[in-house]
Amino acid sequence: MYRYAELLRSRGLFDEVVEGYWKEEPSLRQVLRTCRYTDVTIIPMFISEGYFTETVIPREMGLGHQGPVPREGVARTLGGRTVRYTLPYGVHPAMTDVILERAREVLPDADGEDTALIIIGHGTTRNENSNKIVHQNAALLRERGVFSEVHALFLDEEPKVTGWREKVRASRVVMVPFFASEGWHTLETIPEDLGLEGTVTVFPGPEDGQDAPGLEQTVYYGKPVGTHPAVADVIVQLAEEARGASVTGGDRAQDHRAAWDALTALADQGLRMGEILIRPQGGLYELRHALDEGRSSETLVTLVTPEGLRDHTRLTEAGEHRPVHTLRNLRRGWRAVMNASDLQRAVHLLYPAVVEEGYACHTHALRSTPWPTTARRQTGIYAKVQKATPEQVEHVAQDVCGGCLKTRVWAGHRLPQTFFSGVPGAIPCAEACTFLVAEIREEVAGKRGQSGG
Ligand code: SF4
Repeated sequence: MYRYAELLRSRGLFDEVVEGYWKEEPSLRQVLRTCRYTDVTIIPMFISEGYFTETVIPREMGLGHQGPVPREGVARTLGGRTVRYTLPYGVHPAMTDVILERAREVLPDADGEDTALIIIGHGTTRNENSNKIVHQNAALLRERGVFSEVHALFLDEEPKVTGWREKVRASRVVMVPFFASEGWHTLETIPEDLGLEGTVTVFPGPEDGQDAPGLEQTVYYGKPVGTHPAVADVIVQLAEEARGASVTGGDRAQDHRAAWDALTALADQGLRMGEILIRPQGGLYELRHALDEGRSSETLVTLVTPEGLRDHTRLTEAGEHRPVHTLRNLRRGWRAVMNASDLQRAVHLLYPAVVEEGYACHTHALRSTPWPTTARRQTGIYAKVQKATPEQVEHVAQDVCGGCLKTRVWAGHRLPQTFFSGVPGAIPCAEACTFLVAEIREEVAGKRGQSGG
């Protein structure tokens, strides 16, 4: 996600590229608020349509849409922004070329005779759409006649990829995983199940005198399609198709501008916000952990890009992931030096949506979502949080939120001041985050103590 966002940003085609997450921050609930402009296109970074693209994302982003997304996408006006939601990149017709690219990468003369292509899908009866797109791409590539054979085979259902030797007659076999990213399946289960050794593996034919079927076959194992840089082009195409020709672009969102103008004015004077300190310094801004206030700069790691700052502060000092950025575990020992235009991204990456929500609270415009509403919205494995008693919710929230800088406005806690009025730790929490929802689910399932949560 980071890489694609950076690639798209560097192309300068969009005024802004913002990432939003289901299980991290900025969350899908918050991310629209963090957009600078009134014209927003949302691209789901998923390899196929399914539960997340049809249910979770539209619901969490308040799109008022559930179910299959039409080809032309969904358009809404939300909070003064024009918002368009597209199909996931994986189902775009241009992905057929990405599969071909992946194949040629691993076998440059893949177009030769006697070469088979196997597109490997995950395959699960729970998501027929993911299988459909693999079959569709196989059919399209078959039509193109580049390979002597094209097969769509799956990990978890028939036709299974483990049976490839019974199906494929070609002596050269290119395998391309139709997966979003490199991970457990593409790096471990597929190579292990198929006996692949690196990129090229030779499977010997029957030995002399043996009448068993089979022939010597060489497998060229490609990288997953989802990590190919051309996916960035697919995203651009999706965005352009969604926007159409008539759109002239958006304006600065007023609420966003007001929040960041106020933040910059405070930063010009020196500001403490949560655990960070922002100070003007020779025409630039310096950010550091507030507990490092008196330390000499030479003893700190100096970071000069917002992304460098993000990567440096992603983990706690003990190396643990920080799913909620306002948990009081920001590591120390760094300073970030930013110009005015990078300051916004740096603060956004350190504390996503905190400026926008803090300012809304400061100006009495923050709308909070009480727990029962959050609970009712949950589906799938999280639906069981609806069974949590108020005591259970409070018990878990005290534990989880006790380590967080935010004040639970959603639980009725009052926040008369914010960091905008000089109280550094006063940051509103408008709605239970997915981290807390997941912990409440564990509590309801009776597993919380067991997982050490
Ligand atoms: Fe922090 Fe709790 Fe709000 Fe999550 S729900 S952001 S842990 S206060």
